[in-house]
Amino acid sequence: MKMRKILQQNGVDMFSGAQVERVVVDKGRVSGVRVNGREIKAKTVLSNANIKSTVLKLVGEENLTPDFVQQTKDIRLSGSSCQVYIGIKSGEEIPFITDLLFCSTADHFTSEELCDLRTKSRTFSFYYPKTRPHLKNAGFTIVSSNNARWQDWQALSEEEYEVEKNALIERTVSHLEKYIPDVRGKIDHLEASTPRTFNFYTQQMQGASFGTKFEGLDVSMKLSEHVPGLYHAGSVGIIMSGWLGTVNYGVITANKMAEYLHEVNAK
Ligand SMILES: Cc1cc2nc3c(=O)[nH]c(=O)nc-3n(C[C@H](O)[C@H](O)[C@H](O)COP(=O)(O)OP(=O)(O)OC[C@H]3O[C@@H](n4cnc5c(N)ncnc54)[C@H](O)[C@@H]3O)c2cc1C
Repeated sequence: MKMRKILQQNGVDMFSGAQVERVVVDKGRVSGVRVNGREIKAKTVLSNANIKSTVLKLVGEENLTPDFVQQTKDIRLSGSSCQVYIGIKSGEEIPFITDLLFCSTADHFTSEELCDLRTKSRTFSFYYPKTRPHLKNAGFTIVSSNNARWQDWQALSEEEYEVEKNALIERTVSHLEKYIPDVRGKIDHLEASTPRTFNFYTQQMQGASFGTKFEGLDVSMKLSEHVPGLYHAGSVGIIMSGWLGTVNYGVITANKMAEYLHEVNAK
């Protein structure tokens, strides 16, 4: 809300439910975007959609050199994850355990086990009222997180998907009972998210949680050399990923865009 207010004070028009279908390129330069069938003219465009979808879907291979297209195709996506959101009934309490609990009931540690559809390894984040003293009626909440592969979840039919999500919730609650034996009776909300959820809401390819691996940065930074006026800011590699990374990269990119506009307007 605070960000919205500041943006509005600075004359920014904001639209929600606005799907960019295409970045429009005219004579090699960006000239705007097509949104829900309507073309919006712009001297410069900033995308923070996934860098691979920005280049390959929104700009299109026909507007780029084969080498740049190949470099984009070679970028690896970051992994994805599942969450189980656990709400504790109002008035109920859970004991203080820790804030972050990394745990596993697997016999051995392997990377394959960590990403398996039915992994036995997860991280619980505990939220206690005392960590949110500014909220009047803050209750207890627990979020469980585990690694997940897009391919596993994507392959499921709608019916199988519901079954696996419910099985994930059940495994998670039963894992949690090891640490809080009476927790089941205190829960009044259970909900799961998967790589499919992140893909649906953020359109990150394959539900990637942190965009792409580090080689995405080079493509992201060189985008405006290939399509003048088009910039990208978003999760590309460890330094430019996560909320802080994305914000930092946004500031760097905004500066480059201001320089570009200064040059274009001076002509
Ligand atoms: C479960 C989970 C937990 C996380 N926890 C942390 C954490 O604790 N700390 C941390 O630093 N990071 C965390 N991250 C990572 C962090 O959320 C991401 O790195 C960051 O949000 C990525 O920002 P972004 O701007 O690159 O992409 P996004 O936040 O994915 O934003 C992209 C936006 O572009 C929109 N979009 C995409 N395509 C189009 C289109 N064609 N037209 C219009 N709009 C479009 C999407 O709707 C979306 O709003 C977490 C991620 C997940 C999934």
